[in-house]
Amino acid sequence: MFLDLDNFKRINDSLGHKAGDQLLEEVSRRLQQSVRTTDVAAIDKPGGSGHSLARLGGDEFTVMLSGIKDLHHVGIVADRILKNLSEPVMLEGNRVVVTSSIGVSIYPEDGSEIDSLLKHADAAMYQVKYKGRNGVFFYDDELRQQSQNRIQLEAELYKALQNDEMTLFYQPKVNATTQKVEGFEALIRWIHPERGMVSPADFIPVAEESGLIIPMGKWVIKTACKQLQAWRKAGAGPITMAVNISCHQFADHYLLESVEQIFEETGVEPELIEFELTESVLMQDAETAMKVLKEMKRMGLKLSVDDFGTGYSSMSYLKHFPLDVIKIDRSFIMDIPHDEQDMTITTAIISLARALELGVVAEGVETQEQLAFLRDCDCEQIQGFLFSPPVPAEKAEPMIYKPFSIGTDD
Ligand code: C2E
Ligand code: MG
Ligand code: MG
Repeated sequence: MFLDLDNFKRINDSLGHKAGDQLLEEVSRRLQQSVRTTDVAAIDKPGGSGHSLARLGGDEFTVMLSGIKDLHHVGIVADRILKNLSEPVMLEGNRVVVTSSIGVSIYPEDGSEIDSLLKHADAAMYQVKYKGRNGVFFYDDELRQQSQNRIQLEAELYKALQNDEMTLFYQPKVNATTQKVEGFEALIRWIHPERGMVSPADFIPVAEESGLIIPMGKWVIKTACKQLQAWRKAGAGPITMAVNISCHQFADHYLLESVEQIFEETGVEPELIEFELTESVLMQDAETAMKVLKEMKRMGLKLSVDDFGTGYSSMSYLKHFPLDVIKIDRSFIMDIPHDEQDMTITTAIISLARALELGVVAEGVETQEQLAFLRDCDCEQIQGFLFSPPVPAEKAEPMIYKPFSIGTDD
């Protein structure tokens, strides 16, 4: 059984970490009581201890039951755990009720190794969270199907990379005042022979988990650099080319080496290449992140924070890390000019960026009102469907030479 407390973070945030620690201790005690062998008549334990408990970390626990006579009994134990855990707890003078979610996987049907059993119990636990928490879920055919689909997608992705089914689209970043294109963001597209265009939102997570993101990411960097160099050779000014870098890529020890090699091969100017990193990438391990970022700066790259405001926006990393640009997430832009709060937040992010001497780009700009608002706030660059969605290279190229004229008369 994979057990995760519901909304544990809220306890920590509202009552403090000391209360959180006390809660975890109480949970451990109650778990022990819930599976005490003498109580658990359902479990036959020829020579074995019958159960073992572990805390995996944070608010995650596992319970291993052995010698089960009947699957139905697992349900009985899980229900007992849920009931015991949901009794009120006194924390620092507060009466608190905490529920939990349990996922179950069974050996050997759901996996023959500890890793797959844990993974499947975890997947089943997520099913409980998804359905509204406080319950038990057994790993089942549907989840098995999902995991098989994933394996298949992974295999197809692997082939896609070798069969040239991947392509890059480019979305312009436009100067808010002059409406000239100052750069592009390269966004990967998978043209699947049967399924058509597959969104990166659907396959990037799979590529991340399987490690395929490393060769795929390298291909993206190389293709984007080649494209920029081709445009430069054809007469384009010093426009930038941004590439998204995912968590695994950032953590890859060979990333910088391959980037250096790509720069050499393509002859592209490193100052024109920008890496877009999300907040979660930056927050992984501050010390390592700092080292990698410094090395990237040394190579001449520009660095930007993608989807700013949606992760753990930490003011301290903005101060310490050698960053160049903040990209305001689309979620803050989309309801402008109707949502006052979003407008306040957007204005504040822009002044913050200005004060820290960072560039600032608004993502997902779709309307003229949004453009007008952002221009008034002194936002430097705009990216969004208002100017152009991501398009193939041949459609992107003419944009380099002719400024847009949104909201003007011609
Ligand atoms: P992102 O880096 O934040 O990219 C912006 C996404 O917003 C793109 O989605 C883009 O098409 C979409 N977008 C831009 N303007 C608008 C707008 O005005 N309205 C709306 N509704 N959407 C807009 P896309 O291309 O589907 O990419 C999704 C995400 O997938 C990207 O988010 C990025 O995180 C990831 N991704 C895409 N290509 C790559 C890649 O080559 N490598 C890695 N590691 N991740 C990538
Ligand atoms: Mg991006
Ligand atoms: Mg973004």
